[in-house]
Amino acid sequence: MVRFVWSEDCLRHEPESEVWVGVRTPATELPARALAIREALLTAGAEEVTAVAHDDSALLAVHEPALVEFLRTAWDEWSAASLPSDQVVPYVFARPELTSGRPPVTPTAVWARPGLFAYDTMTLIGPGTWEAARAAVDVALTAADLVAEGAPLAYACTRPPGHHVTRSLYGGSCYLNNTAIAAAALLDRTGGPVAVVDIDAHHGNGTQELFLGRTDVLTASVHVDPGAGWFPHFLGFQTENDTANLNLPLAPGTGDAEWLAAVRRAADFAAPARALIVALGVDAAAGDPESPLEITADGYREAGRILGGARLPTVVVQEGGYDLETIGELVVESLRGLSAA
Ligand SMILES: [Zn+2]
Repeated sequence: MVRFVWSEDCLRHEPESEVWVGVRTPATELPARALAIREALLTAGAEEVTAVAHDDSALLAVHEPALVEFLRTAWDEWSAASLPSDQVVPYVFARPELTSGRPPVTPTAVWARPGLFAYDTMTLIGPGTWEAARAAVDVALTAADLVAEGAPLAYACTRPPGHHVTRSLYGGSCYLNNTAIAAAALLDRTGGPVAVVDIDAHHGNGTQELFLGRTDVLTASVHVDPGAGWFPHFLGFQTENDTANLNLPLAPGTGDAEWLAAVRRAADFAAPARALIVALGVDAAAGDPESPLEITADGYREAGRILGGARLPTVVVQEGGYDLETIGELVVESLRGLSAA
């Protein structure tokens, strides 16, 4: 079976809660997710590769230095300020209309600073968040290296996930866009074009916006319709489609047949590329608490087979998936499909 890249540091981010509609709710993006995936992969006979440290060049090809520096220092500054919250959480947001488009001033108050970079209140920063997010980048880049060096397929067990992060804003339980960073690295190594197919239950808004208007990175996303009330709410619609971006929003309750037809369209869209990045969220599964899609483990294996049918060198980057009982099996089935194609 496939080689998978792992880093213990991805376990260091431990958000016990998030702030949703003004109240603390239990977090679902937990270290146990990665451990469950790893156990299932090892049981299935996959070969573990330890992540190799990479410098910041690929990271800074995708993200604003100011976002990276904020994430690197946010917890230390917050904890030194003796604030009442044990996690970094924004309370005021630097919307561009607030300053008529002028760049906002960096606030003196530590507690106002998250509002420069966060776009929601549910993506909290605590001790270990930076270390885990940065480790996930190394995991994604190590998988990209394996593929650039000739492996047909490599899986990056990234956590926290990344596909909701834009060039300068974090949110959606994501801090650094591992998928986009892997895409940038493969673009660099292969000359491109490269394609990202995102099959997480939620629109890959960060990845879409990062590569907007470019023709060397094709982006496709199959996800629950944000118009039906689902994150990321403000985008993920077909009106955003162009020659390099394909959104395929699906109604709540969609099952395997219609979802796989959309995955097939996304795979066809990606076919002209020279390398493929699959943003593998398994939260579209029927048992997942975070989405209303109804995909089976067989459906995920078939999605893998469809995407593998493109016969492109492929890096699979882990995104969402929150049912601890099934997350490992869903990832293994997806990779089985990709390997068998
Ligand atoms: Zn998701």
